[in-house]
Amino acid sequence: MKPELFIQALPKAELHLHLEGSLDPATLAELSRRNNTPLPTENNRYDTTGSGDLLSEADVRRLYSYQDFTGFLMAFKAATERLRTPEDYELATYRLMQKLKQQNAVHAEVYVSVGVVRWRGQEFEPLFEGMERGRDRGQRDFGISLLWIFDAVRHFGPDAAADVFDLAAKFRDRNVAGIGIGGDEQRGPAEWFHDLFKKAADNGLRLTAHAGETGGPESVWAALNIGAERIGHGLAIARDPELTEVLVEKQVPIEVCISSNLRTKLCASVREHPVKRFFDSGLMVTLNTDDPAMFQTSLCKEYELAQQEFEFTDDHLRELARNSFEASFLPVEKKLRFLQQIDFMV
Ligand SMILES: [Zn+2]
Repeated sequence: MKPELFIQALPKAELHLHLEGSLDPATLAELSRRNNTPLPTENNRYDTTGSGDLLSEADVRRLYSYQDFTGFLMAFKAATERLRTPEDYELATYRLMQKLKQQNAVHAEVYVSVGVVRWRGQEFEPLFEGMERGRDRGQRDFGISLLWIFDAVRHFGPDAAADVFDLAAKFRDRNVAGIGIGGDEQRGPAEWFHDLFKKAADNGLRLTAHAGETGGPESVWAALNIGAERIGHGLAIARDPELTEVLVEKQVPIEVCISSNLRTKLCASVREHPVKRFFDSGLMVTLNTDDPAMFQTSLCKEYELAQQEFEFTDDHLRELARNSFEASFLPVEKKLRFLQQIDFMV
């Protein structure tokens, strides 16, 4: 079988994927036409510069062709500012699931920046209804399974995060699997969220953290110490053998996002990316897109990149796909069903 066909045929799960970062240029231009007004500034503590500018598809493509992490943050902000109504969230979710189907990504756990929605003073509940309508339609039309992870913004502080995690607990029976902390690792250390993570776990929520992306190994240690069950990015793990040893022993899944790290220049070149070293050292690696539209990638492209640049064999890729289901927050019987699909491949 040709490599692209094998990768396409492999049933895969995506565990590190942001709804806001999945808006392709056509969808974001459509949302911009719907919402061509600046965000209200009254309750809005989020910087609104440019939020009323009408974006064409070409504008979005330009916006997405940044060269560093700051440019990426600008693009992410421009996208979130144009996601405003329940209908917008429904459209974004449905289009995301349509693209997952094209990748044969049969299960996804999707981050939504609830922290940003609340920070700009919006009620989240109606938007969640839109997301769930999109998820229902997507599941019906494409047969994709999807769970939500409510993401708080580290540097907005623990009070803002408490609000996000309470919402996650409220909707736990409606496909919300867990919570996460994203944003600035230096300005929002994991220690701040220690008690909140404990409370969330007591409420039956699973725990994730972006860590070791812009921060050092100490940020990953801190995430582990507050109970994070999966580490988003984890680039800095490569600099700490003792940390690697602990993560291998505990088999803590690492949500690796190769293209993301290269486009934001957090990793200087593809040769320097630690994905293969992680895998060879026994870490539980999963491959993910992070923000596929903004990084011009897809889940199949990430697997192709792993094969072409890092010499992962077909058997290795099969193991990565297995990891993606094993590391998911699905109940055991659903995990087994997906894993069997991999076993049945010739
Ligand atoms: Zn991310």
